[in-house]
Amino acid sequence: MSDDDSKRIQSIHHDLHSDLPAEPALRVKALESLLIEKGMLDPKTVDAWIEVYTEEIGPKRGAVVVAKAWLDPEFRKRLLADGTAAITELGFEGWATAHFKVVENTSVIHNLIVCTLCSCYPHSVLGIPPNWYKTAAYRSHAVRDPRGVLAEFGETLPDDVEVRVWDSTAELRYMVLPERPAGTEAWNEERLAGLVTRNAMIGTHRALGTESTRHG
Ligand code: FE
Repeated sequence: MSDDDSKRIQSIHHDLHSDLPAEPALRVKALESLLIEKGMLDPKTVDAWIEVYTEEIGPKRGAVVVAKAWLDPEFRKRLLADGTAAITELGFEGWATAHFKVVENTSVIHNLIVCTLCSCYPHSVLGIPPNWYKTAAYRSHAVRDPRGVLAEFGETLPDDVEVRVWDSTAELRYMVLPERPAGTEAWNEERLAGLVTRNAMIGTHRALGTESTRHG
């Protein structure tokens, strides 16, 4: 295969991923209706599935993982060394986290997660991704202008903070371990987990303990 051929294949592959259907929700609904009509799908199963991922899992599991890492230095080490093994300890392994990596924010490093091709996301710890995560605007700008994207979310980072962007794929999905806010030294796990927002674990929210701004 010539270089040109491989570039062409790459470009077709990229286009296929970036051209989401104009009305994906409608297509899903049409498919769902058809499967129900044919007796291949029980609508109650779909509702239950959605409820589990939005209400029960949501980002709550991720917040527990973060709070545990803040409280237990040995768990934090294991989490950063092998994210999948660490969440398996908590019984949180599952959909889309067979290869899972946690990246840690520090006073001089900020991490931002994106999936430039589609919407790869660590579902078993963060639930269902927000709509903005799937938009072409976020997917392209997060890589080209991460500071600009963060500013849109109300986060202005000092120049000495390095921004690292991690591109999730179907093979490897990321989550951010945010910094523990000052003044929380005496807090227990439940209270700490309550501080952790979904956006902080995607990296569009940095300063925990403050109100999340745009995009919820
Ligand atoms: Fe993806």
